[in-house]
Amino acid sequence: MATACIVDGTKAKRPFSKTTFAMHGFNVVTCPACELKYVDISDDALSLILKRYYEGAYDKRTSEKSTALSRFRKSVASITGMDLAISESQARFMERSGLIQSNNIIDLGCGQGKLLIFLERRGYEVGGVEPDPERARVGQQQLKRDVVKIGTIDNPENYDVDVIIISHVLEHLTRPDKFLRLLKKRNPEAKLFVEVPNCANPEGLKASMSEPHNYHFNARNLKALLENCGWKVKRTETCAANGYYWAHILWFLLRKDVCPRKENGFLLRLMAE
Ligand SMILES: [Zn+2]
Repeated sequence: MATACIVDGTKAKRPFSKTTFAMHGFNVVTCPACELKYVDISDDALSLILKRYYEGAYDKRTSEKSTALSRFRKSVASITGMDLAISESQARFMERSGLIQSNNIIDLGCGQGKLLIFLERRGYEVGGVEPDPERARVGQQQLKRDVVKIGTIDNPENYDVDVIIISHVLEHLTRPDKFLRLLKKRNPEAKLFVEVPNCANPEGLKASMSEPHNYHFNARNLKALLENCGWKVKRTETCAANGYYWAHILWFLLRKDVCPRKENGFLLRLMAE
């Protein structure tokens, strides 16, 4: 998307930095009108690089180094259900938006299906689409019904659901604007849950720049993007991301939200319709 900002079409750009993500090392620029940061490369070149990149298993390249301690913590988190702490936080946000009318939900780019597992336990009818077969398999194992489809998500269909979830997906796409427009066209009645790193938060930006992200959003430009693509944003929050082990233990013991609402916090969430 080299030539212009996908939010407002601004062609001018300020150099920002190079991504620290090893496979890319691309130039990231800032739109002077809306402060969107994006990888300055043509759509075709970006699509080609991403295709090659995502051909392998995503987790193998991006997950932290596996140590005995981290493996132990992961096992404990998985056995106790502590690994669903962030999913509960997302579900709470969706529910307090008051926009969920029925119980049909699909998660596009569902990864290992943590949110689906949580929502299924909460009584929702869930479905998921995940491009990485290994991640899809891991998620499916813990779900009661066979609901995770392996497939790409950049050509959205009519999913016939009440709520569509795109959590940590938009920033990976070549053209989130085209995706959002098509998603709205094919799902005019659906509500949409979006979560991305909040790049107005310095830690959020730093984390986002170290991942294979093509876009780095803040609350203002993400809202503008959605509204330009036909979505009406009903509720936006930024929240703390206490994604750490001890916070998850506290969550497990006290049922506190591990990602509570916080001014200019690390994560950016919104509900739109
Ligand atoms: Zn812009």
